[in-house]
Amino acid sequence: MRFKGSTIFVTGGAGFIGSAVVRHLLGDTGVRVVNVDKLTYAANLDSLPGADGNPNYAFEKQCICEAPGLRALFEKYQPDAVMNLAAESHVDRSIDGPGEFIRTNIVGTFTLLQETLRHWRALSPEKRASFRLLHISTDEVFGSLGDEGLFTETTAYAPNSPYSASKASSDHLVRAWRETYELPTMVTNCSNNYGPYHFPEKLIPHMIIKGLAGEPLPVYGDGKNIRDWLYVEDHAKALTMVLERGTIGETYNVGGRNERTNLHVVETICDLLDEFAPKAGGPHRRLISFVADRPGHDRRYAIDASKLERELGWRADETFESGIGKTVRWYIEQKPWWQAILARGYTPKRVGLEDSRTQRTDELVK
Ligand code: NAD
Repeated sequence: MRFKGSTIFVTGGAGFIGSAVVRHLLGDTGVRVVNVDKLTYAANLDSLPGADGNPNYAFEKQCICEAPGLRALFEKYQPDAVMNLAAESHVDRSIDGPGEFIRTNIVGTFTLLQETLRHWRALSPEKRASFRLLHISTDEVFGSLGDEGLFTETTAYAPNSPYSASKASSDHLVRAWRETYELPTMVTNCSNNYGPYHFPEKLIPHMIIKGLAGEPLPVYGDGKNIRDWLYVEDHAKALTMVLERGTIGETYNVGGRNERTNLHVVETICDLLDEFAPKAGGPHRRLISFVADRPGHDRRYAIDASKLERELGWRADETFESGIGKTVRWYIEQKPWWQAILARGYTPKRVGLEDSRTQRTDELVK
């Protein structure tokens, strides 16, 4: 698709990755962005400085599970593409309350597909040919790796958490809408993201904020679980590239070849805090403590992104070391951004240990 002058729906554009996508689209391309977001606890319009007042930007508060509202937006804006980043995204929360994950990630994706299909079918042949829906997913759909190997685009799905199972379901729906109805879709599966504007419940911002406060830094299990980290702005650029030049019906893995144990990540944050915000009481590593592991905690994720690199020429700009340095500095310099979240009542506390027998199966109905 051609970018300049086109209109793109970004669902979940007030979230962590969605806001990076919106900032990139507005700053570096000539597109018009419509941010379609329900504004859950994870959303933050402060992550989009300068967007309000930009003639290429519109915000619409809308749940992707509600068909009539979505339909009205398709009619109002006549988008040329949809990037679906609206989701419930926190694994620990999915253990305590999977219902919302089923609703948004599965029912919401289904509803968005139906309304996109309806819109696409009414387009002129020329517009129909250039239209794209890009669904953004995670490497967690592939399950857990042993010590060797990487996830490729042909790795079988084996999700282990309610979060990853709901994302896997949504990926399958997107594929089916392509195969059955010929909706021009693509899917990306990305490894763990980190960077500015990350909600404080996730590992890296959680540790930075706790470390700045001189509070204990709780590491799950033995800290040896491995994640493959990607700087969020590299992800946003990859998504734009796939939307612009990817092949319909294909999936693309996105990752930065940055496998690190969780303990290494936390120790690196401690060392950077020692450098940028030293504490009189001694090095930050003394704050590290080990706590009960997450149930079903996948041991290792690692992404092979060579298809994206080979076919579309994408390369991550940041190494883990450069990206984590930028990130720690950002949280030190942008305290008002995350302090406002704490002031709204978010308290960093352990979730995700709930006994599954206490789960209600009727919570979808609420
Ligand atoms: P996030 O939780 O930070 O943001 C999600 C956004 O979606 C929020 O703004 C929220 O208000 C919105 N939203 C939630 N439910 C909605 C609904 N029903 N209707 C409309 N909007 C709704 O998530 P994120 O980390 O930015 O992740 C975005 C996408 O990328 C997700 O699909 C996630 O699975 C995927 N992903 C995330 C990572 C990661 O490391 N964070 C890695 C790979 C893939």
